[in-house]
Amino acid sequence: MNATLARPGAPAAPPSRPGAFELLLANRLSALGLVVFVLLAGAALLAPLLPLPDPDATAPANRLQPLLSVGHLLGTDHLGRDLLARLLHGTRVSLAVGIGATLVAAVLGTLVGLVAGYAGRWTDTVLMRLVDMLMAFPYILLALAIVAVLGPGLLNALYAIAIVNIPFFARNIRGAVIGLSRQPFVDAARLSGKGPVSVLLTEILPGVLPVVVVAMSSTIGWMILETAGLSFLGLGAQPPAADLGSMLGQARAQLFVAPHVAFVPGLAIFALVMSINLLGDGVRDVLDPRLRSGTLVRPQAVTEVRRAGVPEPGGAGAARLDVSGLSVAFRSGGDLAPAVRGVSFAIAPGECLGLIGESGSGKSVTALSLAGLVASPPAVITGGAVRLGGQDVLASPSLMQALRGRRIGYVFQDPLTTLHPLMSVGRQVAEAVAVHGAGGSMRDRAVALMERTGIRDAAARFDAYPHELSGGQRQRVGIAMALAGEPDILVADEPTTALDVTVQARILDLLRELRRERGLALLLITHDFGVVAGMCDRVAVMRRGEIVETGETRQVLARPAHPYTRRLIEAVPRPGEGRAFLQRMRGLA
Ligand code: ADP
Ligand code: MG
Repeated sequence: MNATLARPGAPAAPPSRPGAFELLLANRLSALGLVVFVLLAGAALLAPLLPLPDPDATAPANRLQPLLSVGHLLGTDHLGRDLLARLLHGTRVSLAVGIGATLVAAVLGTLVGLVAGYAGRWTDTVLMRLVDMLMAFPYILLALAIVAVLGPGLLNALYAIAIVNIPFFARNIRGAVIGLSRQPFVDAARLSGKGPVSVLLTEILPGVLPVVVVAMSSTIGWMILETAGLSFLGLGAQPPAADLGSMLGQARAQLFVAPHVAFVPGLAIFALVMSINLLGDGVRDVLDPRLRSGTLVRPQAVTEVRRAGVPEPGGAGAARLDVSGLSVAFRSGGDLAPAVRGVSFAIAPGECLGLIGESGSGKSVTALSLAGLVASPPAVITGGAVRLGGQDVLASPSLMQALRGRRIGYVFQDPLTTLHPLMSVGRQVAEAVAVHGAGGSMRDRAVALMERTGIRDAAARFDAYPHELSGGQRQRVGIAMALAGEPDILVADEPTTALDVTVQARILDLLRELRRERGLALLLITHDFGVVAGMCDRVAVMRRGEIVETGETRQVLARPAHPYTRRLIEAVPRPGEGRAFLQRMRGLA
């Protein structure tokens, strides 16, 4: 029982995330790339076992046989060698060199990137200037120069291609390492006494591995092309051995007599590189955390609604806001993980309802759903109705958008993250006024609103930026913006959690006054029973996405029905209680 209070309320059924492989297959182009690649690579790997003629056996009498000739499915080349056998053996060589070069470049480049990014200062300067020198030469010319120095041959072509690709890896990894090595968890590892090598290997390397894999998947196709390029020029595979590039190079002379001799290896290079690039794109999408979390998915303006039916209104007819059976779930791969399940409550005009529960219990998701503000994707409203003055706002997105700010005002938890940092606070309030089309001078209206929310010298503060105000002042600006559209319902989501205790009391006073003055209905979200006791007529206790108890605040405080409510109430210290409170908490923990 104690563990449940400390644990953030997880949904009852743990959502099963689809595996990386399933995500990859869900991308059709990548799946196609995977199929083509597996077929090509499989045939190439099995080439020695297949009943094929010797790829190097010449038969001048049989030269330049066309496609589909007897015994030679793909015909023969200018020395009468079987093209199919040469193609499969050549693909083997091209793949091996391309993958080998990628691995060498990845290992060396990652090493350079790790050391440069973590050590910083002169080590970084020296290593990065060396990398810059490599990058100063045209790519393929540098590879040609290296092979010219080392001498022609497949292994030397591999080294050359690996060397010219080191800068790409080094720069990518260095950037990722710099970002990671300033993180607090790395500082914590350093403070725990770990040496630099151990920090690099155990803390930073796991974080940059996805970057390495993504970089590999996007370069491997290139490396195969470059190997083919060097072999085409006669600097890679040496006769009689063949790779795809050298086959293409030797076929040049017969291009007009027997085009299929060039066409076959050319098509194989195209299919191989294309399949690897498609597959690489898919791997990148699966591994890149930014793409995976859906930041590149365009968010919808209002939360997606997919419900089977519309429930009857639950509250009394006079309710200003009536929520019945609201359920919200988050899409995770193919599944829907419920976060809010069948929540119902009603608020009468001028009434204050406290929504209380530990963090993660679904309070914010419930409140945001009222105005369709939960981000979609991934959120979906899976059931229920939200009625404002009898009208179901979930019925249409345009209805929901029209009500935002006009009927429902919203005060967020941390005003520093909700205010625009580069715009003066007065302009932001004026903008809110303008959006809601109030008449008169925007500036005067904004100053009046700021004054009403207790900002002293509002006219002078108009041009201040958010960072120039204290936390309490910023929250007053947030409240002024919420009031700009003259809503009759105000939702305040933990409006004082980011503030210290004395400022908290003043902001709550302000909300209380506004409520009385304007007859505002207030939905106050908090995790503090003390706040509810001082502010609200009724209270709804939320736990793990469900409301477990509702009632008059005084009644719930005096006789909590649910054991969870009792624990929340006991977590509020009473003045003068001292040690007894600590002992009670120890009993709970
Ligand atoms: P709180 O009661 O602290 O305001 P929230 O309403 O923010 O809690 O979150 C409730 C639950 O909804 C969380 O435990 C989390 O599992 C889920 N949730 C919230 N936002 C997202 C999101 N963007 N993606 C997936 N799950 C989410
Ligand atoms: Mg919250």
